Amino acid sequence: MTPEELKKAGFSTICVHGSGGVDKSTGAVATPIYQSSTFAFKNAQEGAALFSGEKEGYIYTRLGNPTQDALEKEMSFLENGEAALAVASGMAATSCVILTLMGCGDTLIASDTLYGGTHQFFKESLGKIGIRVKEIDTSNPDEIEKNFDNKTKAIYLETPANPTLKLADIRKTAEIAHKNNAVLIIDNTFATPYYQRPLTLGADIVIHSATKYIGGHGDTIGGIIISTKSFIDKARGETLRDFGGCISPFNAWLLLRGLKTLPVRMDRHSHNALRLAQYLSFHPKVQQIFYPGLRIHPQYDLAAKQMSGFGGMISFILKGGKDAGITLCNSVKLMTLAVSLGDCDTLIEHPASMTHSTYSNEELEMAGIDPGLIRISVGIEGIDDLIADLSQALKRI
Ligand code: PLP
Repeated sequence: MTPEELKKAGFSTICVHGSGGVDKSTGAVATPIYQSSTFAFKNAQEGAALFSGEKEGYIYTRLGNPTQDALEKEMSFLENGEAALAVASGMAATSCVILTLMGCGDTLIASDTLYGGTHQFFKESLGKIGIRVKEIDTSNPDEIEKNFDNKTKAIYLETPANPTLKLADIRKTAEIAHKNNAVLIIDNTFATPYYQRPLTLGADIVIHSATKYIGGHGDTIGGIIISTKSFIDKARGETLRDFGGCISPFNAWLLLRGLKTLPVRMDRHSHNALRLAQYLSFHPKVQQIFYPGLRIHPQYDLAAKQMSGFGGMISFILKGGKDAGITLCNSVKLMTLAVSLGDCDTLIEHPASMTHSTYSNEELEMAGIDPGLIRISVGIEGIDDLIADLSQALKRI
């Protein structure tokens, strides 16, 4: 399909055909893996023209590769951006965006509820290079407005956030950012472009841990940045060139393969998560359940306004607190006790001691991450089997 045809095509069609279609030189239907570190020049003049930017083409896989290119094109269509950059991991995507935008003396406003690795990067590594980070409650627009200073370059948030599923109003936050000459960066890992398209709602940059739903099978690590062509050119030509966090052609290919089934998987993840959340919300041993697709979720209306579905992540607190949560994690049989998320397999974990162990006790409290909170990445298994597994594990508490 041509880029013009793809722009008009439905989401699922782009997932299947967005990588460029049949390979013109060989007729290969699946996108080939261009497993080459370097690309030959026709002559020295061409080499010089490629290096100076006078001519477009491939030089060296850290700077670009046809398999990476196919993934980038498809993701820019899916997120409704002008261009995309595929990198080695979600953390490589976050660090590449921040290092492209900001330098010593600048301020970043970030959410107080983020993946633990992102929080650690902001708190420790950015501090070392003189970037100030203010972590605040980004679900409250007044708090965001209050925290701007004349050095603030960007707002960074996850919505829904890991692990509490807290939301931020993307449209409102983008308006505040733009009024203050800052950009809004959204980590769209939990929702995926199938359920939420932040650029369409006014955000400037989207990042993904593609390790999660984009790949979808728990067998690869990757990250993607989607934004304007000018931002992506700068990120690729400066930050990726210098810091080197490129994705391998094989990992890019695995992400392309994952994308083909993204809508089908997300429908099932979401269906299973809602059923599991409903089951837990009526269970006598459950104190509180967090899932934006439940009408009892305090931000259900916002979720329904800016998302077209609610995703596969749930978290909850048991009445027996942390000890009960740990017993539950040790008692499941079908679910796997492991971090990461977005896999076909259901994964269960204890954020305070695992994915969010980089938070101090005060930071956990500020983020609303209860010491007993349990997070489930609901997979695509049969829902009755998942409920039966949780039910037998809950009986052991
Ligand atoms: N963003 C979110 C929401 C995550 O959950 C994670 C990892 O769990 C990351 C970013 C980092 O991604 P990666 O592990 O691919 O570096």
